[in-house]
Amino acid sequence: AVLVELKDLNKVFVTDEVETKALNNINLSIVAGEYLAITGPSGCGKSTLLSLLGLLDTPSSGQYQLAGHHTASIDKDERARIRNKEIGFIFQSFNLISDLTVAENIALPLTYRTDLSHRQRQQMVLASLEKVDLTHRAGHYPSQLSGGQQQRVAVARAIAGKPAIILADEPTGNLDSNNAEAVMTLLDELHHDGATICMVTHDLASAARSQRIIKVFDGQLIADKPTSDNATIN
Ligand code: ADP
Ligand code: ADP
Repeated sequence: AVLVELKDLNKVFVTDEVETKALNNINLSIVAGEYLAITGPSGCGKSTLLSLLGLLDTPSSGQYQLAGHHTASIDKDERARIRNKEIGFIFQSFNLISDLTVAENIALPLTYRTDLSHRQRQQMVLASLEKVDLTHRAGHYPSQLSGGQQQRVAVARAIAGKPAIILADEPTGNLDSNNAEAVMTLLDELHHDGATICMVTHDLASAARSQRIIKVFDGQLIADKPTSDNATIN
């Protein structure tokens, strides 16, 4: 099933009457269960694309259909509701809240979900803690954890609500190689369990773990290939 469909998507930023065309006529389909990596040089539009996919920002023109929702024409509240239900975010800098415990951080996005009971939320937090192997750290604060553990908490927060798609922005960018490997292994497992993952990275080793690599240059998609093809080209 097609989960994400972008049609002729454009994003223009205007600052001091200067226009920047950050995304230029993007067309992209993502099928449920795919694991894709978005790569490209700094300033090419990767973050803008991820913000649009994540319903954190709106396109200047074009269509974006996510899990059956036409998102281009909906209001802010509806966009937030779809975002909370359908999207899990993983950031480079973890973005945990320092005065909430591990379990509270994971529960936070779920508190915006009016479709879940208190008991369902509790069960989702426990299941995702178990998935990232941090049940024994549930009551700890982020500062009491290593960087690798903090990112695993962020992964648990992203998956707790069983989102349609996981969006990861340089998820290993702040980690040493051992912790990066642990997080990439976790993403491999999630993909194996059926998750749809879209990851921005300029780390070639991380991109190689995905199934499909999309290259962005100057706001345009310039390549879209199965990962195995890229391996033979590079
Ligand atoms: P990347 O993530 O690939 O580094 P970005 O998506 O951050 O690229 O940026 C793409 C282009 O859009 C760049 O030219 C950047 O300067 C511009 N841009 C991004 N966000 C804004 C913004 N909020 N206001 C103005 N220009 C922006
Ligand atoms: P609004 O003012 O429309 O609520 P916000 O930007 O404050 O917009 O957040 C909207 C939703 O996005 C929140 O309900 C929250 O669940 C989710 N969200 C925002 N930032 C994060 C984050 N760092 N991690 C997880 N979810 C987030």
